[in-house]
Amino acid sequence: MTKLDFTTINKSSAKSFNEQKNMIKKIGKGQTVLCVSCDQPLQLSVSSEQETGVKCLKGCTNIGLEVEI
Ligand SMILES: [Zn+2]
Repeated sequence: MTKLDFTTINKSSAKSFNEQKNMIKKIGKGQTVLCVSCDQPLQLSVSSEQETGVKCLKGCTNIGLEVEI
């Protein structure tokens, strides 16, 4: 029987949220950050105020931002 541990999930998502913020800051400064899945450089996409995010070319990393950097 598989049991989900939501405590662990919440902790890890909070941690990854901070990691994502740091990652996005690096990209915003012009540093290259590679996707952990495909090793392609992540790109900051700013198409509109509501759709700012970080994506890799293959799409396995696709982070949307709700707050301004
Ligand atoms: Zn990728």
